[in-house]
Amino acid sequence: LDSELARFESLNLIGEMAASIAHEVRNPMTAVRGYLQFFQRSPKFVDYDEQLEIMINEIDRANSIITEFLSLAKNKRSELEIGNLNDIINVMQPLLQADAMCFGHSLRLETSPIPDILLDNKEIRQLILNLVRNAYEAMELPGSVIIKTYSNNDNIVLEIKDTGKGIPSEIRHKLGTPFVTTKDQGTGLGLAVCYRVAERHTAVIEFDSSLEGTTFFVKFRTE
Ligand code: ADP
Ligand code: MG
Repeated sequence: LDSELARFESLNLIGEMAASIAHEVRNPMTAVRGYLQFFQRSPKFVDYDEQLEIMINEIDRANSIITEFLSLAKNKRSELEIGNLNDIINVMQPLLQADAMCFGHSLRLETSPIPDILLDNKEIRQLILNLVRNAYEAMELPGSVIIKTYSNNDNIVLEIKDTGKGIPSEIRHKLGTPFVTTKDQGTGLGLAVCYRVAERHTAVIEFDSSLEGTTFFVKFRTE
């Protein structure tokens, strides 16, 4: 981890990231402040539902930027404990389903019995959330995402498959590099976090992507 941090420093990434985070968090704050000022000046009987919705979204976005940044930059050791990937997925299911509904997509789980391995619960949750969010964001309505788990040779595989438009070819070779994004509202930090989490679990991330959809494979070693 020290060497990873050194690498980040040598590329001046921390400084670059700090500047970018400040910028990214300031945008939502400016938006929310603007609305509050508008409320202050407006008559009380105006219906604010739409503005409140936007304000909540903006605050959520600022929050997720900070969360992703912290999980990328923090120099902590993973808290690896024996656990089962399927248990984490089952706990997350209601959240992931609710998220799918918000988008208008569907989510299906196809888990199969897999052995326990060493996992950092929080980190794996973050990895799954980031991959599933990307899947939701890549799909036309109504899209469908399938999360699979299975054993394969000496690996446990977590598979997240979407029916989205595929990863743009110009960014495929640099997936996982911080701030690589093709989205107006993107942070470009989600996959960077995933690759770091995988590294900490000695897992590898692979993907298969075409215009018909994308599948991410996270392969954990069972030894
Ligand atoms: P963000 O989601 O904030 O853009 P990420 O690091 O999560 O940042 O993803 C980086 C980029 O990779 C996205 O902007 C998108 O272009 C591409 N990408 C990631 N996952 C998918 C996917 N499932 N389908 C299509 N493109 C994807
Ligand atoms: Mg993302």
